[in-house]
Amino acid sequence: MEMEEERTEKRTISLIEKLEAQHSLTLAEYEALVGYMVERPVPDSAERFLECKASTGRRTDRAAALLAEKAVAARQQVYGKDVYIRGLIEISNICKNDCYYCGIRRSNRSCERYRLSEQEILECCATGYALGFRTFVLQGGEDAHFSDEVVCRLIGQIKKNHPDCAVTLSLGERSRESYQRMYDAGADRYLLRHETADKAHYEKLHPPQMSFDNRMRCLRDLKEIGYQVGCGFMVGSPYQTVQTISEDLKFIEEFRPDMCGIGPFVPHQATPFAKESAGTVELTCYLLSIIRLIHPNVLLPSTTALGTIDPQGREKGILSGANVVMPNLSPVSVRKKYELYDNKICTGEESAQCRHCLEQRMESIGYHVVTARGDVKEWRDS
Ligand code: SF4
Repeated sequence: MEMEEERTEKRTISLIEKLEAQHSLTLAEYEALVGYMVERPVPDSAERFLECKASTGRRTDRAAALLAEKAVAARQQVYGKDVYIRGLIEISNICKNDCYYCGIRRSNRSCERYRLSEQEILECCATGYALGFRTFVLQGGEDAHFSDEVVCRLIGQIKKNHPDCAVTLSLGERSRESYQRMYDAGADRYLLRHETADKAHYEKLHPPQMSFDNRMRCLRDLKEIGYQVGCGFMVGSPYQTVQTISEDLKFIEEFRPDMCGIGPFVPHQATPFAKESAGTVELTCYLLSIIRLIHPNVLLPSTTALGTIDPQGREKGILSGANVVMPNLSPVSVRKKYELYDNKICTGEESAQCRHCLEQRMESIGYHVVTARGDVKEWRDS
């Protein structure tokens, strides 16, 4: 038995070394690497959608530590000890969609809805600028109020007021023409999590009106138009398996996103997934390290969801190879209403408090928040 475990550990370490050298693995190799970290290694097809959560057993410790060490070294080479900050502005919690995992889904009648005015959004940016933010992320549900005209006007105003800043949009699925208009208006980046690269899994997380193919079409359009594009997924989402995670990693390898947002799934009490268990810090950090080795240049956030399930979660994310944090710049009056999942942290603090809290957290582990746009390396080089 011990011999068998030793052999598996040896194989895992050789996969980590291969990933570090070649930035690519086969699907089967990703399955072996991920399977090593979860309690249920590579389920057979009958068990395809059985839950997979991280193992916290000691046998995985050495491989996880080696992986994190290599990921931190890769990140160090490209970004040093710098941590980029993004000012997150949650512009609306109104959404036409009904994703099963989301706290602001259309069917949640207990959600108190709000929409920020253009003036309020611009004020958030001005506050953020004074605090050293040079990227603003406008995030919201799919709210028809935010037409191309409204969003383009907003982008124009932000760029006029703060020409040295980047504007990132996270406004869901739109037509190619819409993405093009917003890009022409000056938007720099777009975040759209793919959620899962497995079509059958996607259909278990979303109602029939939503389409996996359309999500993928959006991501391709964004890339072709010229945005710095971010995809991503939840770790430990219902029905996720070693296989679906491996498909996510292969997709990330081939799609080559500029940004990749992964955080643990955290259930929300007013959704069909209320009773599901949350993802784990261990597996999220392990996957952050793998993604850093796949794309050493990628902008990789240590998410608020990670900080929600573990008080030291964001520090652990950075120590696994992440290099971005996203403090909240939304007005405190609406923070609690943008509750994508239960017990989301940082809903009571003013923007300045969030900014300083994160700065101190990063300093405590030897990293430094910097005042910079924080573009992906390829974009800066070009
Ligand atoms: S995940 Fe996004 S698209 Fe889905 S319901 Fe929530 S806000 Fe809307």
